[in-house]
Formats: sequence, structure tokens, C-alpha cells
Amino acid sequence: MTVQPFTATVLGSPRIGPRRELKRATESYWAARIGQDELKKVAADLRRDTWAQLVAAGLDSVPVNTFSYYDQMLDTAVLLGALPQRVAGVADELDRYFAAARGNSEIAPLEMTKWFDTNYHYIVPEIGPDTKFALNPAKVLAEFKEAAEQGIPARPVIIGPITFLLLSKAVDGAPAPIFRLDELTDVYAELLSKLAEAGAEWVQIDEPVLVTDGAPDAPALAEQVYSRLAGVAGRPAIFVATYFGDPGGALAALARTPVEAIGVDLVYGSVDSVAAVPELASKTLVAGVVDGRNIWRIDLEAALAKLATVRESVAAVAVSTSCSTLHVPYSLSYEADSALDDNLRSWLAFGAEKVTEVAVLSRALAEGRDAVSDEIAASNAAVSSRKSDPRLSNADVRDRIATITAAGARRGSAEARRAAQGERLHLPPLPTTTIGSFPQTVDIRKARAALVAGEIDEAEYTRRMKAEIADVIKLQEQLGLDVLVHGEPERNDMVQYFAEQLEGFFATANGWVQSYGSRCVRPPVLFGDVFRPHPMTVEWATYAQSLTDKPVKGMLTGPVTILAWSFVRDDQPLADTANQVALAIRDETVDLEKAGIAVIQVDEPALRELLPLRKADQEAYLNWAVGAFRLSTSGVSDATQIHTHLCYSEFGEVIGAIADLDADVTSLEAARSHMEVLDDLNAIGFAGGVGPGVYDIHSPRVPSTDEMATSLREALDAVPAQRLWVNPDCGLKTRKTDEVTASLANLVAAAKQARAGV
Ligand code: GLN
Ligand code: ZN
Repeated sequence: MTVQPFTATVLGSPRIGPRRELKRATESYWAARIGQDELKKVAADLRRDTWAQLVAAGLDSVPVNTFSYYDQMLDTAVLLGALPQRVAGVADELDRYFAAARGNSEIAPLEMTKWFDTNYHYIVPEIGPDTKFALNPAKVLAEFKEAAEQGIPARPVIIGPITFLLLSKAVDGAPAPIFRLDELTDVYAELLSKLAEAGAEWVQIDEPVLVTDGAPDAPALAEQVYSRLAGVAGRPAIFVATYFGDPGGALAALARTPVEAIGVDLVYGSVDSVAAVPELASKTLVAGVVDGRNIWRIDLEAALAKLATVRESVAAVAVSTSCSTLHVPYSLSYEADSALDDNLRSWLAFGAEKVTEVAVLSRALAEGRDAVSDEIAASNAAVSSRKSDPRLSNADVRDRIATITAAGARRGSAEARRAAQGERLHLPPLPTTTIGSFPQTVDIRKARAALVAGEIDEAEYTRRMKAEIADVIKLQEQLGLDVLVHGEPERNDMVQYFAEQLEGFFATANGWVQSYGSRCVRPPVLFGDVFRPHPMTVEWATYAQSLTDKPVKGMLTGPVTILAWSFVRDDQPLADTANQVALAIRDETVDLEKAGIAVIQVDEPALRELLPLRKADQEAYLNWAVGAFRLSTSGVSDATQIHTHLCYSEFGEVIGAIADLDADVTSLEAARSHMEVLDDLNAIGFAGGVGPGVYDIHSPRVPSTDEMATSLREALDAVPAQRLWVNPDCGLKTRKTDEVTASLANLVAAAKQARAGV
């Protein structure tokens, strides 16, 4: 088969719109403010602009079908005829799709979970015994045709069968979805024929799951599937894309099949893996040298060196991003000059700038490095300005960390702490508390908007926040909770809140990234050495404490979570950066303690999210993650009680680390039965306080006293009353005040019932 190889591309691009146009349009459609035609027009305009920009920047192959009204896994489920039966009754196609994504009054939505180790959430397809795969290629064919008509060198992108099945969930007693691989491969074969008929020269099939240890036999599966698909008569050329890490054994397996091109992530994977596979000599390597998921400008010299190395081992090289640029903001051009000094700006590359980097590198490959000497000079200047900027290396911070870690960063024994805290806090058995946030009310949002708009000043904003805090304290006293919180009214997003106050971070003006569906986040950029110039939460916590005799729990976010939800500097190990954030949090805990706060919670909901995809890398990660948490929490006396909170109950590989955090009290989600969560913890000898959530805050439902009392009785079979805490399973910020009031009243009543029995 002779096909025109391509030389410059990206694996995918953002789709929410540079001004979040798609978010606004879909939300308007859901609210019935606009019709389908208008929504579809917004979508088509965004696609046209995206494609035109990619071509104008110099790409000679453009990914299509990467547009999505909600999520690419959900699109793939539709493509393969794998939507669950419960949505089949929704007559309109787009409404059926949204019903699967978001549910409606009768239909429960599909689950959502994190896409590999990113902060993007995908919809988890359900594969039941009755799931009958059937090709439904309307979307991909329509997008390909639309692009072709606009003269775009379009390359349809689809998620591959191995990734699709390994990321799906078996339901209704069906066996693991991967058992359906043979059958599903036939559907993909049919799709390849349809794409060829439509005129597609290339197709990109994404198999990121090959960089994980998700299935031990993944290399064998890859060889089997792609040998079969490459045998389809008259098919388009096949480009199998791996990303987010090294494909390991799967790379040789893919190279043994007759596919034309293979994509390797050369930012998070290594060039050595390519040299190790002689079968790549006949392939096009799509070299992911431009970081698709972080926002740093490329070091062109270093990237050219990588390209020169891999070129030795393959037939041809196409330059690409390491993964879809879905994970970075659209363009630096939307950042106001004022927020960014020239140095900082010169270190960054968002989506559009990354496309230019790809084009420059591919020009250098084709015409020699002299053709891009200006670009290389600019890149070198940025590299050296980043190395010499004083904000990137603060000797004070580094010395303090070295001194504290050398001394051990540990607290007194668990018994000593329990005794000291018992004397200070006088809590009943089964103490009740909440996870931190209370509902973000209309008044809070109004106050924040008014502050941003300059309609009110800081003093007025503070006054309004304090009024909220006073309300929340009063409510908790009326409800009879034992350990109170201030309610976090001042935090819109907790990581953003801390990043705004810490040195070493900057907040973008328009750096929106899709998190799921129409939801976007604006991760702060952690660029320099982090330190805390002033206390961040002490005023709120002490104000709250001044209103009550009950202990108020100080509320902080842990170092791993702050890293996970930011764009983090790539010029030093994550472990070092984590320690700097930890030191800032430690300073805050010490100040809270000095101000009389007796209980401090340091949330680490993202501890599991940053877990490396390969088992071999997990231990080292957990070591530094635990080390950073301990650095952040070991500055206080034994009499100060440290809590932590995790947003999950399926611990898997992180269970040992949870115990190693050495918090006095750990609250968790308990979606599964309480016994299971507690048994898992007991199995590893966990001996701290534990609060398995008895109130599911993800639903508006008010749980009854009986229901929660039953949960607590169950829990008491697994842990003694002195260690059991009673709390919801996460923060209450997304709930309504009346739901929360009713639920917490029942929670306190349930705790009292359970106490009476012990
Ligand atoms: N303290 C935070 C809150 O209650 C915890 C958030 C989280 O777990 N994601 O909102
Ligand atoms: Zn949580």
C-alpha cells in the first residue's frame, strides 16, 4: 500500500472553545434556552476554526473526530453501539447521548472516572451480558467529510478496542469486557472499510492503555488486534498512538504487525524504548516530543537531539505532541500582559504555541536546523532565563527543608498523641464532624463576583465572608456537631485559593482546561520555589473559633493535591516541589496551632490520582508523597490533632501509604459497605481514628437516621468506638443548605443512637 506519510501533527486538540463557547452552548441547550441547531452551529464553527488553525500553523495531517459534545469515551461507546439499554428509550440521538452522560429524572448516568493520571474525567462505558456491539459510524464519517470539504488533510481519530474495553466496566454479571475483544475487533475492521470508502488515507487509533500495567497480556493483545486490523483489504493507513508513558513490551508487539505508523510519548517515555525495537525500522514513528499535557515551552535543542536519536532506528519520523493538547489551555494569546512578566511568558507554551513548536521541529527535520536558527536562539534564551531567574531557586526554602527532613519530620508516638489530644479536646466517643466546606450560597458567589468586578473592596468582602462563617458556626452548634469547621466560604476552588497566596505560583486569566463534559478548571501554574509570605487561613479559622467553645478544625489542602491540580514546573523532581509546598503548609499549621486551633485537617483527595501508571514507579512516588504529607503535618505538638481526608474508598495500591501518612484521624468515602472499607484498613494494621462517610454528599437525597445508625453499628463491628468518627463522605459545597441541614441533623441523631449502644 502506498500512502503519503505525514510529518507534523498533534494527537488531538481542545474542543471546549477558546472562550469556552461549547460550554456555554451545551449548558444553554440543557437549560432549553437554545435549540439543537444553534448548538450544532457553535460546534461546527469551533471545529472549522480549530482545523484551519492547525493547517495554518503548518501541520500536514489534522486529527478529526476529536471534537466531542461531552467525552471521547462516550463517543466511542456510541460508535460501537455500546450505550446501555436504559437510555434506549430517549428518542432524540443527542438527548440520548446527554442522558447517558448526565442522567435525567428517570435515568441514572454512566459513571465518570479519571483518564489515566490526568485530571480529565471520562465516561465509563458499561458492558453487560446484553451489550451487542454494532457499528454506528455516523459521527466520525460526518466529521471526516466536513473536514475534507474544507480542504483539511483530515485523519480520523478513534479510541482503540483494547483501551476501550479495559477502561469499560462489566455490569449485570458480565465477564470482564476484555473477553469481548475478538468480537469488537470485527466492528473496528468494518469501521476501517467505511473510513476507506469515505476517502480517509490515515486513521489514528489511540491505545494509551498500553503504557499501563492494566492488563499483563496487553502486548499479546495488541499484536493480535493490529495484525487483524492491518489485514483489512483496502483499509486506510493505520497509526496506533500510545501516550502518557513508555509502551514497554507493547511497542515491539505493535512493530511486528503491518501497521504503518506508531506513536510514542517521548516526553513521559524515553527514546531508548525506540532504539530497543529493531522492527521499527520499517515504520513511521510519530514522535511525541512536544509535551501535550504541561504548559512549558519546549527546549528545541533537547527535542532535536531526541529526534536525531530516534531517526536512526525508524523509516520516517513525524513530529507530534506527546498526547492530545486537550489537557492544556488554548493559547497564551488570551493571557493579559499584566499578569505575566516577560520572563514568565517566555517560558510557556499553551495549545496553539505547542502546534507551532511541532511545525518548527518538523521544518528542522526537513530542511536542517539552520532553517529554524531564530527559533532555536529564542528557545535557548528562554531556557537560560528560566535557569537564572532568582524566583526558581530560594536557598532559604531549600535549607529549611533539608534541616527538617534530616531531623526526621515525625511526630510523637500514636499513644502519646492520643493521650495529649484526649486531654485537650474531651470529645465523646464517635465524635461528629464534617469534611470542611458548607454550601457555596448565592450570597457567597455574589460577594466574590462583586470583589472581582471592583464593586466591593477587600474589607467588605471579608465582612461578608465572616457573616457566612458566623451562620455556619451557628448552624453546627444548633445541630450539635462536636468538631466544627468554618465552612470554606472564601474558597471557590481550594487549590486556586492556596496558589493565589503562595509565592512561586501564578494564576492564568483564561487558562481553562476541560475537566469533564462542560466543566472546566483553571489550574494555577507552579513555576518557582514555593514559599508562604503570610498566613493564609488563620484569620478565618480564629474568627470561627472565637464564636464557639467547640473545637474548630483548621482546613488546609495537602502538597500532593496542590501539585495534582496545578501545572507544575518540569525542571526538578516532583518530590522536591512537593516538599516546598509541604513546607508552606507546615508553616500554616504551626501558625494555626499558635492561634489556638486544636484540630487541623490536611486534605489529600488526589493522593491516588498522581499514582504512576506503571507499578514499578509506584513505590518511589508513594514514598515522596507520604514524606511531603509528613513534612506538612509534623510541625505541631502532639496535642494538636491532625486529620486528613481522601475522596475514595477503593484503596488498591495506596492503602499502605494511607497508614504511613500517620494522621490522627482519616475520613474517607464509603461508597462500598463500611465493613469493607474498615476491613481493608484493619488488614494492614491501621490503628488511627477513621471516619468512613455515612452520608453520600454526591446525591441530593437526605439519608435517614436509621440508615446512618445502621452503618455505624456495622462500622463498630470492625473498629472500636474510640477510633470511629461520624462524618459525611466529602465536603458539602455543592449541596443545598436545606439538604445539608436535614442530613446533618440525622447524622448527629445517628451518632447519639450508636453511642448509646457502646
Ligand atoms: N475540605 C474540602 C471540602 O470540604 C475537601 C474537598 C475534597 O475532598 N475534594 O470541600
Ligand atoms: Zn472529598
